[in-house]
Amino acid sequence: MRADPAGSNRRSPTPRPSARTADHRRSVINVRKAMESVAEHSVIESVFVRHRNALLLRGQFTPLYTDYYLHLMRHHIRHAPDLDQMLKDTLAMMALHLTARPWHETIAWTVNLRAPRLNLFVTGSSLKESITGRIFTHDVREPDRNFFYSQTTAPNLAEPRTSTVEVDGKDPVGWIQQFYRQSEQRPARAFRLPDEHFALVAAQPDCDLAWLDALDNDAVALLESTEETSRLETRRFRFDCGCTLERILPVLGGWRDRPDDLFQGAEAIRIQCPRCGADYQVTRDMLDG
Ligand SMILES: [Zn+2]
Repeated sequence: MRADPAGSNRRSPTPRPSARTADHRRSVINVRKAMESVAEHSVIESVFVRHRNALLLRGQFTPLYTDYYLHLMRHHIRHAPDLDQMLKDTLAMMALHLTARPWHETIAWTVNLRAPRLNLFVTGSSLKESITGRIFTHDVREPDRNFFYSQTTAPNLAEPRTSTVEVDGKDPVGWIQQFYRQSEQRPARAFRLPDEHFALVAAQPDCDLAWLDALDNDAVALLESTEETSRLETRRFRFDCGCTLERILPVLGGWRDRPDDLFQGAEAIRIQCPRCGADYQVTRDMLDG
């Protein structure tokens, strides 16, 4: 979280009162409304592969990515294309992983990368049918290796369950495989398929590991015609943080009692949601309220 007194006017749009601008703005709003009305959840299917003893999770992520891009647009967030892809891939991996896990778990991953130096955060919950995340590129500690931190909370866990694994490379599809091997204690393979489809195949007890090892994109795409399968369940997810100004004001902590130091003469400051990067304007009277 960064309180940013100096940057309060950084993102204000430049007013350009021409008819063309007004038309353009109207059409952008219309497109946005249309996208909002068609944006649906991404549905993740869970399929048991009988004689191989493996669980196939798969989904198509265009609906979730549509909401993700609306969020970026709404909050004026821009990522370099490679970082944008990395966050989108990690969101897909999280949705597949949540579907492989019990319903009541809330899971958060933080990936601390050495190069490019960044923290990537994603979190989600099957029960809330939501998933969110963001990238931090400022004030990130430089690690000597890449680390993948996982935290699981659930009603039946007195303490969150955490694990840290070291990961190689910059590809989230590769990270998840390393995470399964080191932390979940069972192998899994992840696949990036055409048209924003992703799949995860996780070993179950007595899994045919040679078969799992030999899987490739084509084999995964054809799996239901080549193997005996049964569909277990579906879950759905949308990109949604659920944050509001009231919910994130507590991140200001002790600054709330020192408004002069916080505002430094500015009328308003901006604060960011630590989970999704949503940008909120805070004025002094909001703190009094
Ligand atoms: Zn948020």
